[in-house]
Amino acid sequence: MTQTLEQIASCISGYDPNALPVAQAQEFIARLVPKVQAVERVAIRSALGRVLARDLISGIDVPSHDNSAMDGFALRGMDLADDGPTLLAVAGTGLAGQQFTGPVPPGHCVRIMTGAVMPDGLDTVIPQEFTTLNAEGLVSVPAGIVRTGDNRRLRGEDLARGDAALHAGRLLRPADLGLLASLGQAEVAVFRRLRVAFFSTGDELRSIGEPLGEGEVYDSNRYTIWAMLTRLGVDVLDLGVVRDDPQALREAFTRAAACADAVITSGGVSVGEADHTKRIMAELGEVLFWKIAMRPGRPMAIGKICEPGNAGREAILFGLPGNPVAVMVTFYAFVRDALLAMSGATAEALPPLQAVCTTGLRKKAGRTEYQRGIVSRGPDGRWQVEITGSQGSGILRSMSQANGLVVLHHGQGHVAAGDLVEVLPFDGLT
Ligand code: AMP
Ligand code: MG
Repeated sequence: MTQTLEQIASCISGYDPNALPVAQAQEFIARLVPKVQAVERVAIRSALGRVLARDLISGIDVPSHDNSAMDGFALRGMDLADDGPTLLAVAGTGLAGQQFTGPVPPGHCVRIMTGAVMPDGLDTVIPQEFTTLNAEGLVSVPAGIVRTGDNRRLRGEDLARGDAALHAGRLLRPADLGLLASLGQAEVAVFRRLRVAFFSTGDELRSIGEPLGEGEVYDSNRYTIWAMLTRLGVDVLDLGVVRDDPQALREAFTRAAACADAVITSGGVSVGEADHTKRIMAELGEVLFWKIAMRPGRPMAIGKICEPGNAGREAILFGLPGNPVAVMVTFYAFVRDALLAMSGATAEALPPLQAVCTTGLRKKAGRTEYQRGIVSRGPDGRWQVEITGSQGSGILRSMSQANGLVVLHHGQGHVAAGDLVEVLPFDGLT
């Protein structure tokens, strides 16, 4: 059952659309967004960055045999003397992929290479470098170097047959592809890719290639949004710059609602904005206009846009503010996690870094502030963060110079030079 926006709001304690704390906005969005259902099978190399749709149960033991973890000699632990060297005759050699199958009488060992199957009855491997060969060709094993079971990898120790190797909701990473291959899986079931449409609004915007008139700016948001979405691995649909014209806006939203799971717009949601964006959003869907207790990125529209005449077909709307820095900050604060959840991924919070702030920062308690920072190693080896110059929300260069966002939390006040602050490194944001 999908809930109305009012029903969701009623579940959130102290919900106030005019001064909404970041955490409550995140909670609201998490409750709002649906998850894709369709599943497809893809070849293993196409699965990188995709979301696993079913638990992956191992049909085999990995490894499938006990095998050696070292180059050396496989032996019986019970043959080892504890008070002096043990002398063992060599019964043969086992290589990875070419196992030794002959008998190993008591007092014998087998020369063995890493990955080779342990010969029957042998349970321990002595690494080659600890051994010497005596004049009769016997291997001498010093006392006290290995105990029974050492340097042997057990069958199924990586994964036992019937174990869940990976759980549904997993965003597949390089190690997971290797794990799939180790299970002999050529294909894997993943959720279909999310489709996200986006466009920019504002009469002052020009596209690249057009001359800039008085008071006009190039549309940069479509490029940052395209890039952030591309890193997330969703399918993107660029609907261009949409003029501040009711019919053009209506058409753009209708197209987006007809084919996308989510639509992201930038601009036109500011308080007191005189253009048509907000009106058309409200006309075509169920939309809330929030003032979020954050900086930058205070105004934002959130809700659902429906395709007229097709009530079942709707897209989640993220109406982001127009300022280029605010667009990126609100994307990272709200949209990224929401799109991952819609893609079926199990939430995995980005691990923040704690860094020493090199300067004092003025911070108002009662809102979350995102400053742009450059993280580096300090002279004492600890992480430190320096704020990039001007923090104006229109100054995209501050974002480009930065390698992370300094997150000053809702309740936090001024920061003194030398205090630890939380930083979200951009390179985790893929
Ligand atoms: P708005 O939220 O529409 O009031 O826009 C706030 C500021 O962001 C204005 O200075 C806009 O010119 C600027 N802006 C809006 N959209 C874009 C865009 N797509 N690219 C660059 N700047 C933009
Ligand atoms: Mg505008």
